[in-house]
Amino acid sequence: MRAWAAPITAADAADGTDTVDRTDTVSKYDAVGGASATGVALSAGQPALPAAPAYGKASIGDVLSSAAAVLGDDSFENVLNLPAAPRICVVLADGLGKALLKQRSAHAPFLRGVMAQDNDGGHPRTLQAAFPSTTVTSLTSLGTGAVPGRHGMVGYDVLDPRQDRVVNLLGNWDAGVDPLQWQPCATVFEKLSASVPCTTVSLPRFADSPMTRAALRGSEFRGATSTHARVEEAAAALAASPRGLVYLYWSELDKAGHAHGADSAQWEHQLEELDAGMKRLAATAPADALILLTADHGMVDVPRSARIDYSVFPELVAGVRHTAGEPRMVHLYLEPGTTEEARGELMAAWLERFGKKAWVLTREQAVAAGYFGEVAHTVSARIGDVLILARESIAFYDLRRVRAQAMEVVGQHGSITKAEREVPLLRIPVTPKKAGAPRKGAKRR
Ligand SMILES: [Zn+2]
Repeated sequence: MRAWAAPITAADAADGTDTVDRTDTVSKYDAVGGASATGVALSAGQPALPAAPAYGKASIGDVLSSAAAVLGDDSFENVLNLPAAPRICVVLADGLGKALLKQRSAHAPFLRGVMAQDNDGGHPRTLQAAFPSTTVTSLTSLGTGAVPGRHGMVGYDVLDPRQDRVVNLLGNWDAGVDPLQWQPCATVFEKLSASVPCTTVSLPRFADSPMTRAALRGSEFRGATSTHARVEEAAAALAASPRGLVYLYWSELDKAGHAHGADSAQWEHQLEELDAGMKRLAATAPADALILLTADHGMVDVPRSARIDYSVFPELVAGVRHTAGEPRMVHLYLEPGTTEEARGELMAAWLERFGKKAWVLTREQAVAAGYFGEVAHTVSARIGDVLILARESIAFYDLRRVRAQAMEVVGQHGSITKAEREVPLLRIPVTPKKAGAPRKGAKRR
């Protein structure tokens, strides 16, 4: 039980780690001809920067807002071009990257059939996660329709400038942070529920969690522990009203991916469970319901040898007051009064060690690239002065701050690579009910 707790030594990582080459799902998509898709100039020699998430066009933040428009609230726009429907169920499968779903579709025969048939209609088949590609950020964009620069949930944990300390925005929400002040944008549910019933179906423990209040407040909450029970609740909520919006959260795939990797039998098993659950939902939902399946981010497996404790390198934390974020999207906050020259030296040190494996950006570069969308003044200070975005299968830890158990995590996300940011948007057709007793007056052949 001790092996995992040992930090990687400077010697282990001296040449940027002995990375097992599993980058095929990550980086080959992103090196596009040398020119950054964002138009932002980076330090010499850095790989091209991927384009920003397609906020307002084909992002996770456009799903509930488009659904609300379909359901008749004209303060929203149906930018995803969803078809008309009186009831809509949005299923959010945590961690279901588009690439993973395609690669592993042998374990999802029902969804594979849906993908093969879903050729009509004008909605995009692929959406972009918000940035960073992590649950709190994407779910808040989903819940509000707002970009991260507006809703302010810019990482798993981030600096609260008011308290001068790093606060967690997921399970260990900081007692000094009011979710409604931290995330002030109205949610889609808050607006829509005045005219259309809105229901969230999720795990009971999320009923009143700060994260739920920040991102998804304003709906009726139905808690159910098993996936089977959640599907039943979702179908029942759809049936309960001739018009309605139902949001169904599915956590199990992400959990299996973190613990065992997406390249594991456990992940495959959870994909099979999701597949069976969606088939059941399609068979039990009202015939006029529109069922959409999407995700908050994808996932990349990071080998043990590429999980790096960067805090052992003094030059990588020189002048850094706080570290936060995901292991694949690190926020570095500098001491007040740090000069541009000192920031440049810090970035140069990161580039020298990890410049081929990660992008090293200033806050200003990330903002100019459009990664956070339009950034409010209050949110800007929550973003690191320097950002480290993993490009290959690598993850960065500050073991002075996080527990060594965090290095056990296999499947990871947070960065801007295609494997992490591309998620599916599947329209699951409601399957005709099995013929029971013939209806009165129905013709017999
Ligand atoms: Zn996750």
